[in-house]
Amino acid sequence: MEQGSIGRESGKKITGPEQITDKDGVTRPAGSEKDKKTRDYFVGLCKKYGFEPFIDIYGNIFVTLNGKSNNIIMMGSHLDSVIEGGMFDGAMGVFSSLEVLLRLKDENYKNNMTIVVAAFTGEEGSAFHQPMLGSHGYTGIIKKDDLYKLRNRDGKDFKSVMQSIEYLGDSEFSGKPEYYIEYHIEQGPVLEKEKKDIGIVTSITGQCVIELNVNGLQGHSGTTPMDVRNDALVKAADIIKFVDSIAREASNKFHNHSVGTVGELNVEPNRFNVIPGHVYLKIDLRSEKSESLHYMKDAVLNTLKADPGAFKYSIITEVEPSIMSDEVINAIANSVKALKFSYMEMPSGAGHDTIPISKISRAGMIFVPSRLGLSHTPFEWTDFKYIEEGIEVLVGAVKNLDRS
Ligand SMILES: [Zn+2]
Repeated sequence: MEQGSIGRESGKKITGPEQITDKDGVTRPAGSEKDKKTRDYFVGLCKKYGFEPFIDIYGNIFVTLNGKSNNIIMMGSHLDSVIEGGMFDGAMGVFSSLEVLLRLKDENYKNNMTIVVAAFTGEEGSAFHQPMLGSHGYTGIIKKDDLYKLRNRDGKDFKSVMQSIEYLGDSEFSGKPEYYIEYHIEQGPVLEKEKKDIGIVTSITGQCVIELNVNGLQGHSGTTPMDVRNDALVKAADIIKFVDSIAREASNKFHNHSVGTVGELNVEPNRFNVIPGHVYLKIDLRSEKSESLHYMKDAVLNTLKADPGAFKYSIITEVEPSIMSDEVINAIANSVKALKFSYMEMPSGAGHDTIPISKISRAGMIFVPSRLGLSHTPFEWTDFKYIEEGIEVLVGAVKNLDRS
């Protein structure tokens, strides 16, 4: 609750969803003054409990509980937020992971492996247009020089922005995790609808975004007979319908969560009495299974290729699904079962730092319910009862992995 008030313009501390108004959004883009304040608060807490956080060359914060071996179990998430977002997305997982370290310390748990909490820089992409900055840097998937060159909305580069808030370390964090668990709010309505306490993530959906320009011929809506028209919006409508139906087909055919959306559309000239001459739109395809994603993408591209005069497209994002590790899934499931909470396995439709980390580590995620499925809005809320349950599950999962 304390961290949630940082980045909220009113600064007010919110203890229940009924107190939230549309003015209570949390705004903490990476490298902003509010990002710094949240980091300072987190680092302060760590120090208060006897930990010495390490800041790496991407501004990621690492907190370590040494074990008998240098092999690492890492828990992590992010402290930054979208513009006018909620207080749980990311931060809930970071503070809860610290809580797990404190519980292990309190009960004098003798960990075999070294247990690390990570707060990754700039997961949301709200400042630098590129999501998961810190985790992409840490895993080496984006090279340091390329990351440092990225510019934020004010035109300032990543390196100098992180320097200016005093969160640019001078060396890399030396270890890489054997296992990684990200504890996060669901950000969707499924757990609430299914009345489950805990979601165990099996995969994070891959995504393909296609930018499309549809060309027609602008004309008078009163004088142009139907048989000589070339209406760009009618052609776009066919594509929108096709995207919807192919996603339904792929969901059934491959028995998985596959979705297709056209949510952005620009119609020119956008006048009721003019035949649309040009439409710009974006097609967003996502799926938990690679074969399903490719099935949808290929079907859409084949349709577009069939009329090259009308359709000019480019693929602007293409990310394969990230499959979670069976070992980590089992460690979480065994923990939930021992605690007798209700749970379900599910895909994540949203991206997370787990995507890059899963490329270098055996990774998994724990979800807790989001009230009304809301996230990336001031009205985001998760009951503390669920957060506490998730922490208990995380403690058990970490121990299961530590003893494996
Ligand atoms: Zn998040």
